[in-house]
Amino acid sequence: MKIAIDGPAGSGKSTIARMIAENLGYLYINSGNLYRAVAYLAIQEGTPWQNAPRMIDLMKRHHFDYHPDGSVVVDGVPLLKELRGSDVDAIVSQVSAIPEIRHGVNEIIRQIAVSKDVVSEGRDITTVVFPDAELKLYLDASTQVRAQRRYEEKLNERLTSSVTASDSQRLSIDEIKNNIEMRDKLDKEKTVGALKIAQDAVYLDTSDLTIAQVYEKVYKILMVRIAHGRK
Ligand code: C5P
Repeated sequence: MKIAIDGPAGSGKSTIARMIAENLGYLYINSGNLYRAVAYLAIQEGTPWQNAPRMIDLMKRHHFDYHPDGSVVVDGVPLLKELRGSDVDAIVSQVSAIPEIRHGVNEIIRQIAVSKDVVSEGRDITTVVFPDAELKLYLDASTQVRAQRRYEEKLNERLTSSVTASDSQRLSIDEIKNNIEMRDKLDKEKTVGALKIAQDAVYLDTSDLTIAQVYEKVYKILMVRIAHGRK
């Protein structure tokens, strides 16, 4: 069975996808982290994201593997925390707007998912990557709520890792909100793989819901789908 979840940053899709995967024993595929890995490499190598041919070449020069914990293994080196930095946040949507990069990421995801039960999340999973998924969800929330969630997430990440005072000072909810708004706009306006609500997706506004409440709703929908034999 394929479960596809789309939605903007901070809508809760990664957490929900991970919970479904853990509880049902499905493979979790975080497509955003693959785009983040390409953006991270561009920063490391000094490749400008504006230079599409060089970005495409960069993607071809490296080998990308996906690990079920969400990390991306580039040429044998696992990347996870590195993918969440504000430097990556600043350019990842622009990188993901390059059609050839999207094509490459989609190929990787489809390969991983062959003959497996998967729950995959991103921006175009319900519409492009798995248009025939048995369950499609679109998770949403207000920009303010999504920025607050990301802020708390980043704060927690920093508390559990050693960061310098200047790094901590740079964490601002307004900056996070601005980045989310910028990415929302770019993601919705992309010529290929734009973020949109699939006609057959279940739409859930999670603004006033806890993760447990969202999961409960999703789980009920999922059980109904399975009971109706759409497995
Ligand atoms: O999900 P996350 O916010 O980590 O994704 C990072 C970025 O990758 C998004 O802002 C979006 O621009 C891009 N993305 C995409 N298509 C996907 C997943 C992510 O364009 N399926």
